[in-house]
Amino acid sequence: MANQYKRILTGDRPTGKLHLGHYVGSLQHRLALQDEYECFFIIADLHTLTTKPDKASILTIADNARAIIMDHLAMGIDPEKVTFYLQSAVHEVYELQLLLSSLVTVERLQQLPTIKEMAGAAHLEQIPYNLLGYPVLQAADILMPRGNLVPVGKDNESHVEITRQIARRFNNAYDEVFPLPEPLVVGGTLVGTDGQAKMSKSLDNAIFLSDDAKTVEKRVMSMYTDPNRISADIPGTVEGNPVFVYHDAFNPDKEEVADLKTRYRAGAVGDVEVKQKLAKALNDFLEPTRERRAAYEADRGYVDHLLVTGTERARQEAQETLYAVKKAMGLTGVWNKIRRSDEKREKRLRD
Ligand code: ATP
Ligand code: MG
Repeated sequence: MANQYKRILTGDRPTGKLHLGHYVGSLQHRLALQDEYECFFIIADLHTLTTKPDKASILTIADNARAIIMDHLAMGIDPEKVTFYLQSAVHEVYELQLLLSSLVTVERLQQLPTIKEMAGAAHLEQIPYNLLGYPVLQAADILMPRGNLVPVGKDNESHVEITRQIARRFNNAYDEVFPLPEPLVVGGTLVGTDGQAKMSKSLDNAIFLSDDAKTVEKRVMSMYTDPNRISADIPGTVEGNPVFVYHDAFNPDKEEVADLKTRYRAGAVGDVEVKQKLAKALNDFLEPTRERRAAYEADRGYVDHLLVTGTERARQEAQETLYAVKKAMGLTGVWNKIRRSDEKREKRLRD
């Protein structure tokens, strides 16, 4: 089942809308890759169950999924080039996860620092079974559309490594079904407006891609800067200072940025000027995306339509993969017949 096209699998957990940190860490790379690759963007709602399985959280998934897709479209992701799909609606992925689970050991999963970190961040004292199995589910996600390239943050590189191991073992044990996916480590971490290491929605230190001009201005004007600079004539530190980190990332006027830095270091510019120029740069950056957002929002139901058709598309891929997997394993047997009566029953339950 070699791929004709190079395919990307990447995505997000639907836990909220996206901010500038997401742009720096992932979205900008997705924008750059969408022209060269066939892209599958997973809305990984099953992954939210690892740390947020309560019903109230589950009920936020639909709106968060819509917000994430809208953020992508607003930033310039082309819906013609990308397949957005909802993980939990592709039940083949649950099956594949189970079928792959004999190819990895508990010890191997326990050694991953990411699992402990996630448990810690979610204040879990013990590790639930699905959290331990998270990398196996991720392997199923990646292998399901037979992705070749997986753009991930540095912290998730080890999960692609596990996926490769699982794919290799599967291909050796049964048949060549899976291409070995390559991790593409992308990144950059954006500091928060409060100077905390990471912009994060739960730390209330984020500027959202959907913020309007006034909100951006307000958030910028209250940003953390060099705390030693209690007046404009005190020389300040530029390195690591969030306002300058943002200037470097988002202000295309490099001369202006260089001039502000020189004057900041010399104690010859006030924070207000630095911040006003930053607010303007950020709003200039976001303005075209606001226009696109408004156009997409005017088309009611469009995002839902994208998600539905994308999920159908992903299911087709998933069915092909799962069929190949079961065939390779010798599990097909009467499977096709069962499947047909299954589908009838499923349809009855839905109607
Ligand atoms: P939460 O506060 O709920 O943890 P968050 O705002 O930190 O949410 P996540 O859903 O944890 O967002 O982030 C998903 C992915 O987005 C991360 O794995 C990372 O790749 C990227 N990302 C998030 N925040 C940043 C950031 N500040 N800088 C760079 N990348 C980021
Ligand atoms: Mg986070």
